[in-house]
Amino acid sequence: MKNKVLLYIPFLLIIIASFLFNLLTPLTANALEDAKSINLGTYYEFYRDPTNKLTIEDVLSDEYERAFIQSQQKYLFYGQTEDTIWLRLHADEIMHDLDETYWLEATDKLNSIEVYLVKSDDTYDMQKGGISHIKNQEIAYRSNLFYIEDPSIEAIYVKLDGIMPLNLISFFYTTKDFIEKVIAYKFYTGLFYGFMTSLLSYNLFLFFSLKEKAYLYYVFYMLCFIFYQASMNSLDLELVGHLFSERFFTRSISFIGNLLLIFMILFGKEFLDLKRNFPQFNRMANGLLGATVISFFSVYFTTDITMMNTILIIMAIFVTFFLWLSGLFVLLKGHKMARYYMIGWTVLLGSIMVQALGFLSVIPFHPRIYEEVPAIGAAFEAIFLSLALGDKINIMKKEYQASQEKLNEKLEHLVAERTQQLKMANTELEILAHTDQLTQLPNRFQVDRLLTDGFERAQSKQMPLSIILLDIDQFKAVNDNYGHQVGDLVLQEVAMQLKESVSNEGTIGRWGGEEFLIICPQSPLGTAIDLAEKIRRQIEGHTFPVVIHKTVSFGVTSYISGDTLHSMLSRCDKALYHAKNNGRNRVEYLQ
Ligand code: GH3
Ligand code: MG
Ligand code: MG
Repeated sequence: MKNKVLLYIPFLLIIIASFLFNLLTPLTANALEDAKSINLGTYYEFYRDPTNKLTIEDVLSDEYERAFIQSQQKYLFYGQTEDTIWLRLHADEIMHDLDETYWLEATDKLNSIEVYLVKSDDTYDMQKGGISHIKNQEIAYRSNLFYIEDPSIEAIYVKLDGIMPLNLISFFYTTKDFIEKVIAYKFYTGLFYGFMTSLLSYNLFLFFSLKEKAYLYYVFYMLCFIFYQASMNSLDLELVGHLFSERFFTRSISFIGNLLLIFMILFGKEFLDLKRNFPQFNRMANGLLGATVISFFSVYFTTDITMMNTILIIMAIFVTFFLWLSGLFVLLKGHKMARYYMIGWTVLLGSIMVQALGFLSVIPFHPRIYEEVPAIGAAFEAIFLSLALGDKINIMKKEYQASQEKLNEKLEHLVAERTQQLKMANTELEILAHTDQLTQLPNRFQVDRLLTDGFERAQSKQMPLSIILLDIDQFKAVNDNYGHQVGDLVLQEVAMQLKESVSNEGTIGRWGGEEFLIICPQSPLGTAIDLAEKIRRQIEGHTFPVVIHKTVSFGVTSYISGDTLHSMLSRCDKALYHAKNNGRNRVEYLQ
């Protein structure tokens, strides 16, 4: 047992180390507060164009020069809007070294970003970014990149457009700092996705060997989680940007988010065995599953991305809370396997709640609430669910062993019971084999055995042994006059009288017909004669049913040295013959 626990320790250490990585990775990945980069948020001035018609020339004209308003937001957040947003940066505020080259990075997924690098004479260079222009992107990277080769420009104008919420988190770097940032980012994302992929593969192998459906759902859930994370970090644009349509990328978060919920529910249902444990919860889970499937398909047709995201967040809250509650009920019902499940789900629920509160503006908006908090929550949950699966298998194994042991115990008990019954039957059989049915005395077979034993003991230990042979007088007449049944009755009566008169002086047996033999070990001849005489008198005085009076004749003898069993028996028989000849109802002996 102890050894088994020791085996888990390295595994647990790896998990704990991974926790820390997970905690650090997403935070470092975005490097939002990197000292070397400038967060452009409050450097911008903005202008809302409800007509969507203004061109750069219009915006550069004196008419709009003073229409721009200074941004107060660290992370620009215009939400779902039909307006076009124009942004302006004063070059001298962000570029101080004329020998440097610079990069502007915009991390949000947007349909269209146009960047105008405007010189003092109002001539400009234009660069396009966003999902609409993904196929023309020179560097495949998760965020929109704009290169500023000539730092002597006067201003930078940014035009945001499209059906996606118009948010902008943007940074400004020198080329050197930008390269360093990308290297760090690639390193940490490698770690993060590497870890998640290992966890996924590990559980996939477990599924292949254990054939437990919960593992498969978990693997799909993890896969969706990885894709969800990737699409939150815009890695989908970086990796497969040229493969899918704009329609896909504007909705990828909602698509995968819904898919994630679908597999969450499937996993929860299977892991907690809701069908068996709580059928009403199972029906609710099926309802939620239907809703997420509908939501998944409607994402494709809607144009209101914000609404879809809102629905997704509300659904996520519902689903997570529901699965958390189901876990709690199953745990309270006494299923230990829900322990790790509950820890994992509590962490996830907490992180989703934080995200929801941020979304509903209960707590101030911060991009981390959208990316890192749910990512960390889900990563922790993924680890705990993996532990939960292992724990469940372990518990199931233990339960199986316990039931097997119980079965064995039952079987042993049954075998013991049967053995006891068999023993009793054997004893009964033995008694039957040794007992005369009419008189319940030892039968001839048993009397022979007892006699042989007694004779051998007398012979070897030179101890006295006497035998009394007795025969009912004129017994044939009983049968003849009253019938065989009365004869039997007399035999039973005599047997009873014998049992009464002989206690521990000897053993009585039915010798055959109406003859009985009494073996008296350790009794000398005289004692045996006295006993015979006592019995004779007792029977003589006894009142029998029907026949009233009956007498018995006795032959008595003792073992003498040189005797064989045969010689001793025939002497006894002779004595009995004498008793019969001398008028019956008497005791005769020979020695
Ligand atoms: P004696 O005084 O010389 O011993 O005369 P007896 O009639 O007792 O002697 P005998 O040997 O001629 O008769 C014995 C009878 O006992 C013969 C047989 O029918 C009867 N008998 C033997 N076994 C049983 C039995 O189990 N039940 C009954 N009812 N009769 C038995
Ligand atoms: Mg006889
Ligand atoms: Mg007789």
